[in-house]
Amino acid sequence: LVHWPFVSHRKRLSWIQLAGHKGSFKAGEEGTILKKFSENEKLCFERLRGERLQDFVPKYHGVTERDGEAYLQLTDLLYDFDGPSVMDCKMGVRTYLEEELVRARERPKLRKDMYDKMLEVDSDAPTAEEHQQKAVTKPRYMQWRETLSSTHTLGFRIEGVKKPDGTCSTDFKKTRLKEEVMQVFNDFVAGNKNIIRSYLRKLEQIQSVLEDSKFFTQHEVIGSSLLFIHDRTERAEVWLIDFGKTTALPEGEKLNHRIPWQEGNREDGYLLGLDNLLQLLTSLMEP
Ligand code: ATP
Ligand code: MG
Ligand code: MG
Repeated sequence: LVHWPFVSHRKRLSWIQLAGHKGSFKAGEEGTILKKFSENEKLCFERLRGERLQDFVPKYHGVTERDGEAYLQLTDLLYDFDGPSVMDCKMGVRTYLEEELVRARERPKLRKDMYDKMLEVDSDAPTAEEHQQKAVTKPRYMQWRETLSSTHTLGFRIEGVKKPDGTCSTDFKKTRLKEEVMQVFNDFVAGNKNIIRSYLRKLEQIQSVLEDSKFFTQHEVIGSSLLFIHDRTERAEVWLIDFGKTTALPEGEKLNHRIPWQEGNREDGYLLGLDNLLQLLTSLMEP
């Protein structure tokens, strides 16, 4: 087997990370990336085995070790693209698990740091009482944060975008209105309707595969993203990534993914978000 080091080197340099902690990824063998191990995410890749949905998820090559740490080895979705544009859309009407909310509530400590962060974004956000105590509780903060972006209203939010010139932006924390999201998408595809059409086709496939996926009905899918990738040849792909917080329901229980979330029903609004994405991209096709 002959390797072309300069080829793989060039390819590796083109890899970019639009979300998550710096340092949780490493270059893997040719055409793969290593993501810091999580038992939960590993279980998801294993449970996906044999499902049609697997065709829309990066291929999982097992667990491997680097410098004494465990990693999941995944196919690099950018590998055979040349100068791709990339967008990470985090799906769902909330990005924390119900159990995180419960845990945050168990110790209802008042948080000054979270109050300060809230003030920084919107000085009108805290209630009179919160202003008085100069602090908020963590569950209050978690729920407020989701209303800043389109997560709460549209069921997805833009996490990051990489343009072909190499510039990345993750400055979308307050991109909330449908019109604002549409503008970001239109910039992302540089108004190219062929690319929008390809993305629509892909999203329709994903929608239909999700609607009859056993894995999908049996999991609360939180913090997972759709990764949009296209290039100047108008090749366009959409992939499901990030199952770090995707959690199995108790045996026999199912989610609908469109029913509004009420604490206790574990609904994530994933399909609501996908419906909205489809509608939004469809309206970009209109002249
Ligand atoms: P967070 O939970 O904060 O969203 P994370 O640490 O779980 O982050 P991911 O969301 O899985 O990490 O990935 C972060 C970014 O890395 C993605 O937005 C994408 O840009 C890139 N990425 C992840 N997986 C792949 C892949 N298989 N191929 C190419 N790029 C990837
Ligand atoms: Mg992610
Ligand atoms: Mg994650």
